[in-house]
Amino acid sequence: MEVVTTIAEARARLDAARRSGGTVGLVPTMGYLHEGHASLMTASVADNDFTMVTIFVNPLQFAAGEDLASYPRDLERDLEICSAEGVDLVLAPGVDEMYPTPIETTVTVDAVARPLEGRSRPEHFAGVATVVAKLFSIAGPCRAYFGAKDWQQVAVVRRMAHDLSMPVEVVPCPTVREHDGLAMSSRNVYLAAEERAQAPVLRRALDAGLVAIAEGERDAAVVESAMAAVVAEADLGTVDYVAAVQADALITDGPLHDEVRLLIAVQFGKARLIDNDGCHID
Ligand code: AMP
Repeated sequence: MEVVTTIAEARARLDAARRSGGTVGLVPTMGYLHEGHASLMTASVADNDFTMVTIFVNPLQFAAGEDLASYPRDLERDLEICSAEGVDLVLAPGVDEMYPTPIETTVTVDAVARPLEGRSRPEHFAGVATVVAKLFSIAGPCRAYFGAKDWQQVAVVRRMAHDLSMPVEVVPCPTVREHDGLAMSSRNVYLAAEERAQAPVLRRALDAGLVAIAEGERDAAVVESAMAAVVAEADLGTVDYVAAVQADALITDGPLHDEVRLLIAVQFGKARLIDNDGCHID
């Protein structure tokens, strides 16, 4: 496995891989890797001849007052995980390499970025879309692997790639969870022991919503109330949103139908946790 820090080196390696007839897989991350990230690497290594993981904590997607400065980092351990997964190349650029001059060109995605995370973190998805556009530009034609844990992020990135005719196939991968149902996240390290004990309430709230739908409930507000009632059991958590929406548009258009997504965001102390799950209504 090779580790590079410059865009030019990464481009040269990927161009060479494609020239020799290989397909390229891209796994963008912010590091502090866990089994969720590793599952994206497994998928990419299985599907492609050459896999590049990027490790970059992107300042553009953090608002003032969010956890940019304290975001957990451990490059040495990250590289061990990438190597064990059979990754070919890691691009770990500094901020100066990615943003050598103050950026004047940004990418914003409209409707699908507006609700849910977009309401709570208005600058977030423009930061995500901009850095992912840069990574897609660096990587060139490839498959790019993203976690369904960040459901709205997948929707935003997919829409961007479609609208801007980027030569990238966005591949969503299932959420990897701890044994008690908590979705793995680099930010779980922020949880104090008591908060960690209560954090699986997100999974249970999603289950309550899924049960309500399975029992025939089609009113999104009622499903959301069922989810909120479960989260309320966790006295250390503050709900940001609970939502039952159509899976593609991330809004409702009347009674729930076809592909439905349940999404939830809860603040536990320093940790803002998100999770989601979905079902099909016949
Ligand atoms: P991050 O480093 O948090 O920006 O995440 C990098 C990629 O890993 C994103 O596509 C995430 O959706 C994905 N990811 C994060 N947590 C998980 C998880 N528990 N299961 C699957 N994918 C994940």
